[in-house]
Amino acid sequence: MNTDISENLAEVQRRIREACGRSGRSADDVTLIAVSKTKPLEDLQTAYAAGSRNFGENKVQEIVQKAPQMPQDTRFHMIGHLQRNKVRQVLPLVKLIHSVDSLRLAEQIEADAAKAGLDIDILLEVNVAGEESKFGLAPEEVEETARRISSLSHVHIRGLMTIAPFVDDPEDNREIFKKLYQLAVDIRSKNIDNIDMSVLSMGMTGDYEVAVEEGATMIRVGTGIFGARG
Ligand SMILES: *Cc1c(COP(=O)(O)O)cnc(C)c1O
Repeated sequence: MNTDISENLAEVQRRIREACGRSGRSADDVTLIAVSKTKPLEDLQTAYAAGSRNFGENKVQEIVQKAPQMPQDTRFHMIGHLQRNKVRQVLPLVKLIHSVDSLRLAEQIEADAAKAGLDIDILLEVNVAGEESKFGLAPEEVEETARRISSLSHVHIRGLMTIAPFVDDPEDNREIFKKLYQLAVDIRSKNIDNIDMSVLSMGMTGDYEVAVEEGATMIRVGTGIFGARG
């Protein structure tokens, strides 16, 4: 893997188009999020110059440092575990929070968003594989949690996110992606007010092509764009 960011980006985009071609999807329906956690600002600027507008970070502190230094049309995505005492700081800086994994966190977002006069889009993080080391709702908790969150007026559920297990063969994660897709279909069919299920955030460097084939609308690629993290 080289660290020529613009070359890597072009390669990832090519592979997304191919995966879309194989599965009869339009590449316009897949948003590539460049996961820039731990990477210096210059790397984000290089990716921006090469066309990236969506960046994923997993620490509030890094978003606080980087966001003000990027052009206005840069969109930051919070993809990491979010502590309730950090919510207030991050809200004005992010386009979407992918990692909402409890009603309590959503209620904190509601309280801080109401005070700041903001409307916040979120995804519910689902631990599809049931890995003990991972955050996220169990699949069977998602509908009930979504219903409760739907009553919050400043928080808007846009879809689901999952972090699939680390595997050598990306095919091993196909079932995980199928399950997240099906869960979104099931919840969409309930027509719950203030919830839409248009976003499926799934797939990382090792498995994003399989995720795209299974319906991902956002993929989160770090290493494949920026090279290995130190
Ligand atoms: C780090 C991270 C990624 C990117 O991982 P790569 O394997 O480097 O592509 C994607 N999603 C989340 C939630 C992450 O924390």
